[in-house]
Amino acid sequence: MVNNKALSPIKQQIIDGDIDWTFTKEWLNFNDQDVPCSAKLSKQQGSRIKKCNFIYPTIDIQQRNYPRLYPIGSISCIECANAHDDNTHVGLCKEHSIHIKNILIRAAHDLHDLIMKNTKDGNSILEETIKNISLFNTSFVDALPQSHPGYLLIHHLVPSDLTKIFNTYINKKLRFSLFSKFFLTLMSSIDALIWTRRASLVKQWESTLSITKNKKRFYRKRHKKRTPPPPDPGAPDHNLSPSRHYNSRHFATTPYYRDGGFNDNFAHIRWMTSNYLHSGHWTTYRDNIGFNNIDLFLILQNSFLKNVFDIR
Ligand SMILES: [Zn+2]
Repeated sequence: MVNNKALSPIKQQIIDGDIDWTFTKEWLNFNDQDVPCSAKLSKQQGSRIKKCNFIYPTIDIQQRNYPRLYPIGSISCIECANAHDDNTHVGLCKEHSIHIKNILIRAAHDLHDLIMKNTKDGNSILEETIKNISLFNTSFVDALPQSHPGYLLIHHLVPSDLTKIFNTYINKKLRFSLFSKFFLTLMSSIDALIWTRRASLVKQWESTLSITKNKKRFYRKRHKKRTPPPPDPGAPDHNLSPSRHYNSRHFATTPYYRDGGFNDNFAHIRWMTSNYLHSGHWTTYRDNIGFNNIDLFLILQNSFLKNVFDIR
């Protein structure tokens, strides 16, 4: 996972153990709907998985998937115009800073209330303890630092900082259910104020370029037999790189070829038929958490089936 290129923005946090994978898995599986499976739930879980894998369809990904619809060259962030519009920039944009501070202040307050209501161990220093964990440090000037645990939150990963509090103060029986309730409220604010707000600004910008949902839907059909788009003069010349020269070995392999083989030879069937794959060709998803860690994906699936059949 540390060598996964898509996760390079959080490489250090992975190495330092700043992410609680058990709680993250709980969150990715979390279902607040009345039914065990639905289109809405599938969309919600798919969206969380894209965000934590840094493959949410930000402009750079859309530009790659629909090169004839988007302007060529690097496209700047719609909000600050100071950085390339990609997954890494979400949360680090200085336009997100004030929202993140407000969300963290509110979350620290809600967490304190939740613990006081659900434990006998809450005491006068609890407020101070919560305020002092680095997740709730809002003293940063300008943009959120990439090393701040809040950056993990933005990308739907659960910071260990937060779970330490739950592990210390909430008994095991109540822990996951209280955590899910608290985290759902917190993540709803993050989705509304960061992701959805941002997406609507991107949509407005796209409409000025006549980029519509329909054009994306019929893109492949429309451009299938046409010549490839002109090369991007601003892009680096990849032809100079020896890795771009296809040799007979590449021609001989399948699209889902991987060095060293697969943990599960049928994994590609699940991925090609998965409804998580909305925003591009399935092969673009090869380098994310789920694909590189088939075991994690199986855990997620098994856990989901457990919920369906209520086997405990
Ligand atoms: Zn920005």
